[in-house]
Amino acid sequence: MTAQRRPLVVGNWKMNGLRQDGVALAQALAEKAQQQPVAVEVAVCPPATLIADIGGALDKSVVEFGGQDCSPHDSGAHTGDIAAPMLADLGCRFVIVGHSERRSDHSETDSDVRAKATAAINAGLCAIVCVGESGAERDAGQTLDVVGDQISGSLPDGLRSTDVVVAYEPVWAIGTGRTPSAEDIAEVHAHIRTKLADISPDLAEAVRILYGGSVNAENAATILAIANVDGALVGGASLRADSFWTICSAAKADSDG
Ligand code: PEP
Repeated sequence: MTAQRRPLVVGNWKMNGLRQDGVALAQALAEKAQQQPVAVEVAVCPPATLIADIGGALDKSVVEFGGQDCSPHDSGAHTGDIAAPMLADLGCRFVIVGHSERRSDHSETDSDVRAKATAAINAGLCAIVCVGESGAERDAGQTLDVVGDQISGSLPDGLRSTDVVVAYEPVWAIGTGRTPSAEDIAEVHAHIRTKLADISPDLAEAVRILYGGSVNAENAATILAIANVDGALVGGASLRADSFWTICSAAKADSDG
């Protein structure tokens, strides 16, 4: 049976934008969604300081929103951290966990990522779990092993397909303008699908696997047409409504295979 997974395009705004810029961008996306509807699911993950305002701007829109990280703890003495129930309380549907910038800037390990994903799921959020190899690991031919180990180490037990989205983001492709070849993306996505099948065949059929790393308005259609690519996680090109919406428009209604 061919799986039908509704593609998802997520904008990761990273640490960009003050309230005025963020609200203006969210309003522009809400307007695009109304005037140029797309068949795919669309979400943005603004900085934590903007989530409440973005939630207001997207209140009546199909564009969803989420956080960029969450604590593994639900509350307590964790100064500066943000708990998953707090994100859910603001109306978030998603939270990114294990982004390579968190893994490198904050030394997050697979088990940290797994704990964060567990907290997110327990709060009713969908965890966007990021994996991806460094340039050195790719050059050393270790990509599939590295990504496979990250999948095994970062995904919680007992998952339902709505609990997670996996984002394959080669570290060397993030913000560099470089992307892997279509064959390389297809190979890694197929490998992730196989790793998911080791957990459960149903999970492997239903979980969406996004590609992230220098997706832009020009390359989106080609990348989104690759087998097992069920959408994109977009950094830089999500900061402008036009380029982000072109990417969302390039995704077909159903991805299969
Ligand atoms: C990201 O950091 O999640 C990302 C995909 O960034 P960019 O699109 O800018 O490479």
